[in-house]
Amino acid sequence: MDATLNRNRGPLPPSSKLTGGGFIVNDATYDAIFISAEFTEEQLMIKEMVIDFCIQNIQEPFFKNGKELEATHPEDRDKIVTILKKAGKLGLCGISISEAYGGMGLDFNTGILFNEALASGFAFATTLGTQTSIGSLPIYYYGNEQQKQQYLPGIASGELVASYALTEPNSGSDANSAKTTATLSDNGTTYSLNGQKIWITNGGFADIFIVFAKIEDDKNLSAFIVERNYPGFSVGAEAKKMGIKGSSTVQIFFDNCLVPSQNLLGDRGTGFKMALNILNTGRIKIGAGGVGASKFSVTKGIEYALKRQQFNKPIADFGAIKQKISNIITQTYALEAAVYRTGKNIDEKIESLVKDGVNDAASKLNGVKEFAIECAILKIVGADLACYATDEVMQIHGGMGYATELGLEMAYRDSRITKIYEGTNDINGMLSVAELIKKGLKTKEIDINGASKKILPTVFSEYFRWGKNPRWKREKMLIKGIKNTFLLVLGAAGKKLKQDLIKEQEIILNLSSILAEAYVTESVYLKVQKLSYSSKDVIDLSIQEKIAQLYIYKSLSKVQNKAKEAIDSFASGFEKRILNYFVSKLLPSYPQNPKALSREIADHALMQKKYPF
Ligand SMILES: Cc1cc2nc3c(=O)[nH]c(=O)nc-3n(C[C@H](O)[C@H](O)[C@H](O)COP(=O)(O)OP(=O)(O)OC[C@H]3O[C@@H](n4cnc5c(N)ncnc54)[C@H](O)[C@@H]3O)c2cc1C
Repeated sequence: MDATLNRNRGPLPPSSKLTGGGFIVNDATYDAIFISAEFTEEQLMIKEMVIDFCIQNIQEPFFKNGKELEATHPEDRDKIVTILKKAGKLGLCGISISEAYGGMGLDFNTGILFNEALASGFAFATTLGTQTSIGSLPIYYYGNEQQKQQYLPGIASGELVASYALTEPNSGSDANSAKTTATLSDNGTTYSLNGQKIWITNGGFADIFIVFAKIEDDKNLSAFIVERNYPGFSVGAEAKKMGIKGSSTVQIFFDNCLVPSQNLLGDRGTGFKMALNILNTGRIKIGAGGVGASKFSVTKGIEYALKRQQFNKPIADFGAIKQKISNIITQTYALEAAVYRTGKNIDEKIESLVKDGVNDAASKLNGVKEFAIECAILKIVGADLACYATDEVMQIHGGMGYATELGLEMAYRDSRITKIYEGTNDINGMLSVAELIKKGLKTKEIDINGASKKILPTVFSEYFRWGKNPRWKREKMLIKGIKNTFLLVLGAAGKKLKQDLIKEQEIILNLSSILAEAYVTESVYLKVQKLSYSSKDVIDLSIQEKIAQLYIYKSLSKVQNKAKEAIDSFASGFEKRILNYFVSKLLPSYPQNPKALSREIADHALMQKKYPF
């Protein structure tokens, strides 16, 4: 870590006290957050290694012959397996698994950085992502010693390909309603599985499947490690898909499939919890993937905009093109700030649990679980950004963006799945608010009530005194205003709708958008503040400050709209007027010139000829 960046570091909050979702009531300070400039050379080398691997094995072959890998073609499927095994030989299949089981044992944040880099591998990101995350972590986190010894070294080396089988034709978002059953034999030695799973990534060639099924009449799922060669197990044809064609996706079938009883993973009936906990990790990884995909895409957009001439000048000279470039850069930069802030918080939580004597795997699992709200937010923001960036970069390319040879339409198609898997964006949005309500009102880990009581007295005392405030104070107040808007609307809606609030999904989704903006604006603001207080010269600092300003500027209007939509959906008459009035006081206008900010940001990137940070 660059020590100079930390010279102003005050005492950090005790890691064990870090509460996921707590950002909505507690204001973090810049010295307590991690920023990407603090990654060590070793961490950055891993990132470069993954990018190089993806360039050599995925991008170069694609750009050479213009042919997308398609798992529906057996010869391409073999190529995907070969690339995966090659990744295994380099240790890339075992990034999250500890060295004791043959893995690299990377800390959580480096694992997230790995996923940002992996986005350069298009569909291969899903293949290797499944191997290193949802396909292997259930064994690492929940397996007994014998199961870990048996499977993890093979997964880490790439000799065994792993997959995760939760979804069924009739149970997707409602995963716990799965119908696959498991019946224990009379002598207790085997389970007989019956049922079907759908959309199973890596399933076309996986050796092991983490399968979720209900034992007899259990209410909740259990998890099993199923090997491909077990009797009664079969795999269907490769799905024909819109995107990520270079990843295998199949249905799998269990027809009295015999699974040794020692392959029950974790305790009976804990599979649903396990499935959800594993998905938290997958979600933040999608956030990091969004950062990687957007950096890749916008660099392509910048290169093309500089080359392509229309009306006797490069299209990069046009404000409309600059605006697209600066919007992608701004959102990418902000998301990156939020992703690595969370990643480090998770690492700190894990460290504190280890110190408290919790074992390695349970610490990792609970470290991520603590930040389930942030993981859900990052999944949504990352998926939305990946889709937005690839769409806008295709637009920058005009007709050429629509042609297959540049790979942009492939990136556009590939990015779309991120809004759907690992819980759809809507499901994640509702989950983030539901989890916050639970932590605030049931378990009382977050003092929502206390924070809500402070909103109104501060509206008039603080918010009108900007003029005299020092640098960054204005942004700090605006971010507080976004948080308070969330609390105000949540409190008023809760008072009115009581238990029914959670069923009013339109309002919950408005709230989830505000919650996400609160987290991302605070993250980008703290990152830039940390850089600006650094003793070291930070190249491009003024541009990075402008990015934070533009992000906050745009965020404010989003939050205003979402708050109004929520309020207008449950309040009427005087209550509606007063709530909307308070929101206008909490979110006063932020005097910025978005066009000027946008042009400076884009011009800077155009000079660098790439995503500049
Ligand atoms: C390419 C690909 C790869 C995949 N890989 C895997 C894998 O490896 N393993 C695995 O187990 N699964 C995998 N999936 C499945 C994926 O996780 C599911 O598709 C996803 O969770 C959504 O489930 P569903 O498709 O059944 O949609 P549904 O649950 O039927 O949802 C349809 C729509 O209804 C909405 N909806 C559903 N419930 C609610 C609600 N309560 N309130 C409001 N809206 C609701 C959803 O947001 C969505 O918009 C994969 C899917 C694809 C397409």
